[in-house]
Amino acid sequence: MPVSEISMALTSIRAALDLVKFISDSHKTSVIKDKTIELRDAIISIQSSFSILNEKYLNILSINHDIKKELEQMKKWEIIESQYELVKGRTGSYVYSPNNMHPNPKPTHYLCTNCYNKRKKSILQYRDGLGNGDFYCPDCKMDIFFQT
Ligand SMILES: [Zn+2]
Repeated sequence: MPVSEISMALTSIRAALDLVKFISDSHKTSVIKDKTIELRDAIISIQSSFSILNEKYLNILSINHDIKKELEQMKKWEIIESQYELVKGRTGSYVYSPNNMHPNPKPTHYLCTNCYNKRKKSILQYRDGLGNGDFYCPDCKMDIFFQT
């Protein structure tokens, strides 16, 4: 993608240098005054081009930061994703359960499929504390009856 502001700034710099040379070679006060005004305009044009470039650069830095952050989150999620597998319980419900790649599968726990699909790790909780398979997700509030 060509950056037109750079091209404009370089053209203005060339014009400014020509004006400086012309002014330094000139001996007439009226010519010096006119060329000084042209030189000022060229410098203002350069300043404007670099101001736009600076804004674009800052915007690119911000986008770069966001992309790096998103990439980091994706890498973290890939690690989590590699440690769980989808399992079907006796009730026919599905949950994500630690697989043999999980470094610390105990205590036994299950992840919410709804949150998992949104790349969020949410451990299902027993609704009544009795361990009878009646779970809920503390994040999305999904109810699930799951028995291994
Ligand atoms: Zn959930």
